[in-house]
Amino acid sequence: AIDFKWIRENRDLVAENIRNRNSAANLELVLEIYEKFLNLQKEVERLRGERNVVANKMKGKLEQSARQALVEEGKNLKEQLVSLEEELAELTDVLQLEGQSIPNITHPDVPVGGEDNSALRKMVGSQREFSFALKDHLQLGKELDLFDFDAAAEVSGSKFYYLKNDAVLLEMALLNWAVSEVSKRGFTPLSPPEIVRSSIVEKCGFQPRAQNTQVYSIEGSDQCLIGTSEVPVAGIHMDSILSESTLPLKYVAVSHCFRTEAGAAGTATRGLYRVHQFSKVEMFIFCRPEDSDRYHEELIGIEEDLFTSLGLHFKTLDMATGDLGAPAYRKFDIEAWMPGLGRYGEISSASNCTDYQSRRLGIRYRPSPSDPSPRSNSKKGKGSSSSATRFVHTLNATACAVPRMIVCLLENFQREDGSVLIPEPLRPFIGALEVLSPKG
Ligand code: AMP
Repeated sequence: AIDFKWIRENRDLVAENIRNRNSAANLELVLEIYEKFLNLQKEVERLRGERNVVANKMKGKLEQSARQALVEEGKNLKEQLVSLEEELAELTDVLQLEGQSIPNITHPDVPVGGEDNSALRKMVGSQREFSFALKDHLQLGKELDLFDFDAAAEVSGSKFYYLKNDAVLLEMALLNWAVSEVSKRGFTPLSPPEIVRSSIVEKCGFQPRAQNTQVYSIEGSDQCLIGTSEVPVAGIHMDSILSESTLPLKYVAVSHCFRTEAGAAGTATRGLYRVHQFSKVEMFIFCRPEDSDRYHEELIGIEEDLFTSLGLHFKTLDMATGDLGAPAYRKFDIEAWMPGLGRYGEISSASNCTDYQSRRLGIRYRPSPSDPSPRSNSKKGKGSSSSATRFVHTLNATACAVPRMIVCLLENFQREDGSVLIPEPLRPFIGALEVLSPKG
């Protein structure tokens, strides 16, 4: 249920938001289709009314000729209705499809502009000094026999990899550690399906049908591989009305992620940094609208705690409008120092999607009678259409995306003798292993 009425009433604000966010959405086209849709809807309702009048007339006592005329009229009306109803259903689909590209509104504090305009929220640690010649994760991986990119390129294609030896244990340790840390904080663990219907992907704000899409579709089906577990987790409560007392619902999901990385040519693509398949632990929250800013802070706080405990040096950014993607109202990214690459690289991302996904997925809640909440969903009147229920807000945040964590760990904790120190919090999850050492 995209709120087209609200979009029409706030067209200047929506247009400015589309510009600020560098979005390809076509507002004029959406409003044009919406106008057509409203007119058609009116016409359908008028015909339904006429048909009812005719049906009522036929209940009375009538001359044979008058009855015959009414039967004719009824038949005509029905034919017109069937054809217009079909047209209306088609137009509704077109409207939904076009409307889906309109981005969420933006938090007032978000800096306007491109990536360079993002605001620094926090800096933790500092760049480690090395008294020996630094290696990057590819070199370290080679010496420690942790990866095989060549075989993966033959078997699967470029940007795939085999993890080998201790790297396999390290991946499992990272996943286990992240799920364990986050579930300790009251999140329910989930291992979701990794193939989902395309319609759910779209409702979450991704565009599997766009050119250069990030989403792998399965030929001959209406299904896709997930690019992030955010999609199946968001879908777990679709088309339902939750009770207020169950909120917030907090999940921590572990899954593989599959991405085409279309358009990523020329960006940092070496080694594990940008690959087509990776494992990730993701946090997800369903909550009341008035709580979502607070939970956004909680999510970024958990990410900062996790990365601090590993001893990483990183900065937290409030991402500028041009870098938000359609569903996010506000997004905080964390970029960690990767000494081998010689730059900061994004390791996590936390988004407040407000009611963008819940409207499309139909996820509402019924406020408890004892705690009457305001009837409107937000100041701008984007309220629930039914007075008794409101749309929840959804938030998602990375707890641990494995390949870039491996880059960080290898490059930051390498030692002069070629070994790599395992941060203490991970050791219980990797058989008490303290260092990765060259074999032989
Ligand atoms: P996103 O869902 O796009 O916010 O990505 C979440 C996290 O996954 C990012 O912060 C990265 O750490 C990681 N990530 C995203 N894309 C890739 C990729 N192609 N290869 C490896 N890691 C990735």
